[in-house]
Amino acid sequence: MPQMSGDAYVGRFAPSPTGPLHCGSVIAALASFLDARAAGGTWRLRIDDVDSGRARDEAAAEILRALEALGLHWDGPVQYQDPRRDQYQNALERLRESGRAYPCACSRREIAAVAPIGPAGMIYPGTCRNGLPAGRRARSWRFAMAPGELSFSDRHAGRQSLEAATGIGDFIIRRGDGLHAYHLAMVVDDAALGVTDVVRGGDLRPATFPQLALRQSLDLPTPRYLHLPIAVDPHGRKLSKTNGAPPVDLTQPGAALIDALSFLGQAPDAEMAGAPAREVLEWAVANWRPALIPRSSERRV
Ligand code: GLU
Repeated sequence: MPQMSGDAYVGRFAPSPTGPLHCGSVIAALASFLDARAAGGTWRLRIDDVDSGRARDEAAAEILRALEALGLHWDGPVQYQDPRRDQYQNALERLRESGRAYPCACSRREIAAVAPIGPAGMIYPGTCRNGLPAGRRARSWRFAMAPGELSFSDRHAGRQSLEAATGIGDFIIRRGDGLHAYHLAMVVDDAALGVTDVVRGGDLRPATFPQLALRQSLDLPTPRYLHLPIAVDPHGRKLSKTNGAPPVDLTQPGAALIDALSFLGQAPDAEMAGAPAREVLEWAVANWRPALIPRSSERRV
């Protein structure tokens, strides 16, 4: 497996522009920012708008404004996915040439009727793997997963492993509507940005397996991973833009950062209360201790 070889640290925050930043996304942004800055590294911002049907321009603008208000300043230009479709298609062609991508005629409904659910979604039963059934047209493209163990070491949860074929199966890399799937886009983008470290919410931990398989097949480097506890509301529901989690309160950016730091087990002394964002961040970079992130897989905000 290709590994990063002593490269300087490059981290990134990669929100999908489907709504304003809520406190779960502020936690992910802050943790990846602190991890990068404490390592003297670069911190890039990518707007994950590959799913153009769900992406909203005003949400992207709002996210940028919120990060600025919180003092989470990124390096270099913002990378958007929408203009990079050719890169994703090139990657798909490379997979096809090496026999790792194939066209699929199945509809989601057909698969749902028979497919078991794995940690990263439905496990495709393999209907079109050896050719399209007679009379059927290709709708999407799938990655042909090789059997064998996929594993990675998570800086928070330790070693993670899964049997690739039975745990994940052949997943979509280009959808029926012609859009490239998120897993494919993000591995191409992480490599283009030179990302060495992925710090993100624990809800994305299972997604690491298909992403790892793609990275290996495309000969792209594997970053280090740190998945954070999942931020849940008092009812135990994951905070997400799509289920209407309230936007972070930007009238007091310092307080929003302190809340996120407490979630991450890095609460500053009480005297920091009321401090401006810049001061809170200075303290947080100097005192960033990933080992203090609580061990639980979920945490209430
Ligand atoms: N765009 C993804 C999301 O907002 C996150 C991607 C990532 O950090 O890898 O859920």
